[in-house]
Amino acid sequence: MTEIIDGNAVAQDIRNGLLDSIETLTESGTTPCLATVLMNNDPASASYVSMKHEDCEEVGIATKDVEIEPDAPAEELFDTIDELNDDPEVHGILVQMPLPDHVDEREVLRSIDPAKDVDGFHPENVGRLVAGNARYKPCTPHGVQKLLEAADVETEGAEAVVVGRSNIVGKPMANLLIQKDTGGNATTTVCHSRTEDLAEKTRNADIVVAAAGVPEMITGEMLTEGTVVIDVGINRVETEDGSELIGDVEYESAKEKASAITPVPGGVGPMTRAMLLWNTVKAAGDVAGIEVDL
Ligand code: NDP
Repeated sequence: MTEIIDGNAVAQDIRNGLLDSIETLTESGTTPCLATVLMNNDPASASYVSMKHEDCEEVGIATKDVEIEPDAPAEELFDTIDELNDDPEVHGILVQMPLPDHVDEREVLRSIDPAKDVDGFHPENVGRLVAGNARYKPCTPHGVQKLLEAADVETEGAEAVVVGRSNIVGKPMANLLIQKDTGGNATTTVCHSRTEDLAEKTRNADIVVAAAGVPEMITGEMLTEGTVVIDVGINRVETEDGSELIGDVEYESAKEKASAITPVPGGVGPMTRAMLLWNTVKAAGDVAGIEVDL
């Protein structure tokens, strides 16, 4: 029987598990607070931001919501980030991507106080993750790690294949999988668009994490019996009735081979949202000097 890993249920457990820490922090005078900054007119981005606010409200995390006109000068964004960096009531800052072309994304990531960088994308936090001393684990790979734990998947000594090498998913995912101190200890191969014979890599894997953004590219034929399949992909495709979300894994054929698999939607997506709450609570705990139970 293939185990369907229920991301909604695991994410709910994570949120429930944060409640005590949020209460302790709030009673001690430090209500965790996430600030979001939106500087585009993309409806999908606006909806991601509003979902993040709803998630925060549900668990008692305060929010600040800043919107900047997409044609405003870049300075307006940098001034906003400076203010949020200096605001003692704000513990986490999230700048929603994408940014307009006239704004340098790397400079924006560098301008966020690393202690408030709950996405984990500031170079200091990337360096700490790679060095095995992570402050914030980026939300999506951290969510995948929690899904593997929840499904009792043994990563130690396993052959793991990550398909995708982006800074937000593929590379940090590979780092978490190889890491000694955070319990990864997997032998990890990172594949990308120049990888020759991807199927040969995935067939030799015990764990496949698909994060390429290519609809249904990982098929059952590319897997060996018993593989654990984590599908990070979120692709909106047109259907006769409108559109639907599908992953990077061809779910039906992969399910025939997998010992455990995540669906899309309802797999990694809810975990990414839950781990942002986790990082925000951690940020508040660090400021308050209170060891929170995460
Ligand atoms: P990027 O486009 O930044 O990176 C995609 C990576 O996949 C690149 O490294 C690319 O290789 C590689 N790739 C593309 N095509 C192939 C191929 N045919 N074979 C092997 N590798 C390939 O995407 P992201 O990492 O940002 O996101 C990946 C997917 O995950 C997307 O569907 C995105 O929507 C989803 N996502 C889901 C999240 C969630 O919460 N579930 C959160 C974040 C992303 P190269 O470097 O050579 O170009």
